[in-house]
Parts: sequence; structure tokens; C-alpha cells
Amino acid sequence: MKPIQELYPLLHEPRKVVITTHQKPDADAMGSSLGLCHLLTQLGHEVTVISPTNWAGWLNWMPGVDKVVDFELNREKCAGILNETDWLFCLDFNIFHRAKNIAPLLAAATCTKILIDHHQEPDSVNFDYGISDTGKSSTCEMIYDFIVESGNSEKITIAMAECLYAGVMADTGSFRFPSAHASVHTMVDHLKEKGLKHTPVHENIYDNFLETRMRFIGHVLLNRMDISYEYNTALIAISKKDLLRYQIRTGDTEGLVNYPLSIQGIKLAALVIDRDEERKWSFRSKGGFDVNTFARKHFEGGGHFNASGGRSSESLDSTVQNFIKVIKEYASQLQ
Ligand code: 5GP
Ligand code: MN
Repeated sequence: MKPIQELYPLLHEPRKVVITTHQKPDADAMGSSLGLCHLLTQLGHEVTVISPTNWAGWLNWMPGVDKVVDFELNREKCAGILNETDWLFCLDFNIFHRAKNIAPLLAAATCTKILIDHHQEPDSVNFDYGISDTGKSSTCEMIYDFIVESGNSEKITIAMAECLYAGVMADTGSFRFPSAHASVHTMVDHLKEKGLKHTPVHENIYDNFLETRMRFIGHVLLNRMDISYEYNTALIAISKKDLLRYQIRTGDTEGLVNYPLSIQGIKLAALVIDRDEERKWSFRSKGGFDVNTFARKHFEGGGHFNASGGRSSESLDSTVQNFIKVIKEYASQLQ
């Protein structure tokens, strides 16, 4: 993978470009994809953003989201676009299988492939150009760097600023995680100078749910959260029945895994949801417990040091039993 900087001189020649991201895109995935889309469109490229799956309704305020193509609803159209494209940008994921059903098409595409991502252990050999930096708060911050370093600062619009701010806000837990370095605040300062109004972005993301989601959270925290002070760990397991009862939609469970970390002493929070095709795990930690390695070793997953995810094809009950078994190995690390 050649350094991303080698791409900058090539940006001035118009090309066909596809931007894609991980399945069930979150604010960072969608914000970075649209932020880059706005820049490349201004530079004269013909850009299509393809999402591997659907996304949460609370992302639908983002400027440009109406043109994002959902691969699962438009498979043939997407295959055709990928066939024709000159460049393929992969944002906020670093290995094709994180893009679910579109992954084989991404792998097979013969175009130039470009990676911009901040997760651990990138599959760099499958990309021609790119940057992978786990020190970065978010892919949105990396797109901001891309814009500035490539000499396009003056092209930042309010629409771009809103998309990029949303992702950096979400991935830093509203600027509270250690990843909210000085560079993040400098970026926000610059976006504010460009005219960004940040309060509506917070409201669009965090105050945009239905009542059923709030009732669901009440139910889950009361009835589905187990705390083990022996391991300073909280475990939440959600069944299909719970999802149906509260009409839970894509994106409604986002952030739920963070709640137990506000309990004194809790260092690890684990959430497992019984999705149709698999049991999906989310892990969050505070301090020195590495949930990336934990997810990789035991739950076919990965991510970041303090935030990761994984999966299991076992039943909800047996993946929960497996968690309870493996956590015993980590008692000393969780003290
Ligand atoms: P979340 O719990 O919000 O779904 O994911 C937390 C972090 O872990 C995100 O950065 C996400 O991209 C990453 N992640 C989630 N699930 C997986 C997975 O199955 N494999 C890998 N490698 N990363 C994941
Ligand atoms: Mn991210």
C-alpha cells in the first residue's frame, strides 16, 4: 500500500469513484463517506457512495445521504458501478469481510483501491494506496486531514463540516475518550470557522429516537444487565423477542453498551444481540483492558483497544455461557 500522499497529485484528473464503508454504517462511517464524496464531487469526479447494508434513520439528516446506494437493495446496479469505477475508497473498515455481502465484489474489483481507516490490523496488501492510523480518533478526522493535506481546505463547505463533525463526535463519545486529542479540537475550531453549527448535529444524532427505543433501554437496564463485581464486568444479552417487542430498528441499539461503564468500578461492558443471521457482540472497556485482542481471540472480531465487536454463530445462550467461561481467564487484568 503506497502512502495516501501519493494520491494527492492525481486528485485533479476527473475519475469515476466509488466510496464504501462497513456494514450498518455508523456516524463515522457515513460521515466520512459523505464528507469525502462532497470534496471529490467538487473536484470534478463522478462519485457514488455505496453502503453494504441499510443504516440507522438518525443518519438521514446528513447532506448527501439521499444519494447513497444500499447494496442489498440494488445489487446489480452496484456490481455495474463497481465494474466501471477507476477508484474504490474503503473508509472506516480495513478488511473486506467487514462489508458483509458486498465483500466478494470489493475483493474482485480490478480498480485502484484506497484505504482510509483507524482500526487495528489492516489488510494492507489488498490496497494500492492508503493510510491506516489507530492513533486517529475517527475516519472523519482522517478525511479532514486528507482535505487539508491535499491543499483543499478552502473547499470545506458547511455540508462537509456537518458530516465530519458528526463522525468525530460519535467516535470520541462527544469528545470524552482519550482519542479526542488536541488535533480533534483544532479540527472542530476550523470547522466552526467555516460556519458549522454543532448543536443541531448533536440533536440530529442523539435526540432523534422513537419512544419505543427509550422504553427498550429501560427494560434492558432493568432486566437484561448482569453485573459481576468479581470481574468488574457488565453483560447485557438481548433476545429476538426483546427486539420485536419494542420494534427495535437498525441503529436503535447504538450506544447501549456504554451505559454500564458509568457504574463505579466497571471496566468491561459486553453486549450481545440475537440478530437474524448471527449473535453480534459489542465490547467496551475503560483503561488497560484490550477489547480488540479479546474480541479477536474469542469472538471472531476486532476493532480498537477500548471498543470492539465480534460475532458468534452459536445460540444466544451458548455464546453467553462461552463469555462467562472465558472472562474467568481475565480476572487479574480486570482488577
Ligand atoms: P460496535 O460495537 O459499535 O459495533 O463496534 C465497535 C468497534 O469495533 C467499531 O470500530 C467497529 O468497526 C469494530 N467492530 C465491530 N464488530 C467487528 C467485527 O466483527 N470485526 C472487527 N474486526 N471489528 C468490529
Ligand atoms: Mn470509526
